[in-house]
Amino acid sequence: MTKKRIGIYPGTFDPITNGHMDILKRSLRLVDRLIIGVATNPSKNPMFSLEERVAMVDRETRPMALAAGVEFEVVQFDDLLMSFAERVGASIIIRGLRAVADFEYEFQMTGMNYQINPDIETVFLMADPKYQTIASRLVKEVARYGGNISPFVPDQVCVEVLKKVG
Ligand code: ADP
Repeated sequence: MTKKRIGIYPGTFDPITNGHMDILKRSLRLVDRLIIGVATNPSKNPMFSLEERVAMVDRETRPMALAAGVEFEVVQFDDLLMSFAERVGASIIIRGLRAVADFEYEFQMTGMNYQINPDIETVFLMADPKYQTIASRLVKEVARYGGNISPFVPDQVCVEVLKKVG
């Protein structure tokens, strides 16, 4: 019997965007079981509570995972990513790479994580050019100033963000 390939896609998902959705859809081709780790991240002062983010990510992504026949779970975590990965038996961490700006941070983080546990590989998926400029932070900013965020997030998420900004 071959070993199940378990991957984690970690993030803050405040809120989940079309960029996240694209990375997620593509990562379903790489693993047998995908765990989406929703980070507490209080330092980022999230617009959505942890519970709201977990529910939102689950709702938006479950149909895709089921269609792909991949085991799927959305889990919150507030410990070190590598501890979380070890705890759930993951051998792959999936990250999306947008621009050069992402690279420096990801490069450092991957290097440190590799020293913590060299058995866990971080895999980078290049953002699709269509979604490359989408960032949760900017989605919130555009919404606060009354801009149209519908090209950047799933429909229901758009409604929820607009509700938050009043
Ligand atoms: P974090 O706080 O870990 O950066 P995010 O929710 O902002 O959490 O992002 C989670 C992951 O998704 C990161 O690997 C990030 O680079 C990736 N990501 C975010 N937006 C996009 C996008 N538009 N296209 C591709 N990857 C993205």
